[in-house]
Amino acid sequence: MLNGGNMHELSVTESILEIALRHGDAAGAATITDLFLVIGELATIVDESVQFYWDIVSQDTPAAGSLLHFRRIPGQLGCRACGHLFTPAAGLCCPVCGGIDIELLAGEEFYLEAIEVARAGEVETATT
Ligand SMILES: [Zn+2]
Repeated sequence: MLNGGNMHELSVTESILEIALRHGDAAGAATITDLFLVIGELATIVDESVQFYWDIVSQDTPAAGSLLHFRRIPGQLGCRACGHLFTPAAGLCCPVCGGIDIELLAGEEFYLEAIEVARAGEVETATT
């Protein structure tokens, strides 16, 4: 099955690899064993697709065979009219005043939080 994702996810996966390899290099890593990624609840990223591309783009790099760990963070919306904060699960109008002038405060994140690397028998966590 090769319908695991789309070009968008391929390019974000490639940029994660680039960042991870740069940090791995800086840490003197022989291999990168684990990557810790953060995905906002509202981000248009499907973790299965990233995993699918990851196995392809990381081949023949020090990150080959590494594990991806995803941490989901919840979305948060704010009403510009009354200042109420709520989650997307509550709907896209303000549950307090019914306002529709809504600001997206969190939930679209997608970034590499940390990597774990191995150097001749040691394991070390490097923060990105
Ligand atoms: Zn409101």
